[in-house]
Amino acid sequence: MSRLDSFIRRLEAQRSCLAEAARRTQSLTGVVLELGLGNGRTFDHLREICGGREIYVFDRQIAAHPDCIPAPDRMFLGDFTETLKEARAHLGDGAATLIHVDLGSGDATASLALAARLAPDIAALMENGAVVVSDQPIEAPHLAPLALPEGVRPGRYFIAEKRA
Ligand code: SAM
Repeated sequence: MSRLDSFIRRLEAQRSCLAEAARRTQSLTGVVLELGLGNGRTFDHLREICGGREIYVFDRQIAAHPDCIPAPDRMFLGDFTETLKEARAHLGDGAATLIHVDLGSGDATASLALAARLAPDIAALMENGAVVVSDQPIEAPHLAPLALPEGVRPGRYFIAEKRA
C-alpha cells in the first residue's frame, strides 16, 4: 500500500472511531479531552460532533490553524506527563466522557512508551461509560477494548470503554 493510501486510511479510521465514541457517549454530560492539538484538525472535528460538550486540549505547543486554537482556559499547555496530572487536579477524576489521544510522532517505539506512561492518568480521568479513542493502545485496569467500526483494520486505531 502506498504511503498516501495508508495516510488516508488512518484518517478514515480516526474519523470512524471518533464518530463511534461520540455516538456512544452522547447521553453523558462530562467534558471531552483532546491530547495532541497539532494543526487542530481533530479538535475542530470534535467541536462539530460532540454537541456542545466542553473540550479541553493538551499539547506542548500551539501550532494550529488560527481557526482551531482553543480558548486559553480550555488549553493545558506543556508536556502530557505533567498536564494530565494538572487536569486530574483541576477537572477531577472521572470528569471526561470522551478522550481522544493522538500523540504519535515518527518514532513508533517512543509513541508506544509515552502512551503506556500516560494510560493510568487517562483512565483515571474517565467516568464509567466514557470512551478513549487513540492512535496507540491505551491499556489500564477497567479499560475494555471495543469492537472497531466497520472498515477499520485492527491496529490502525484503538477504542476502549471504561467499565466499573
Ligand atoms: N490531532 C492533531 C490534528 O488532528 O491536527 C494532530 C496531533 S499530532 C499527531 C501530535 C501532537 O502531540 C503534536 O502537536 C505534538 O506537539 C504533541 N505531543 C507529542 N508528545 C507530546 C508530549 N509528551 N507532551 C505534549 N504534547 C505532545
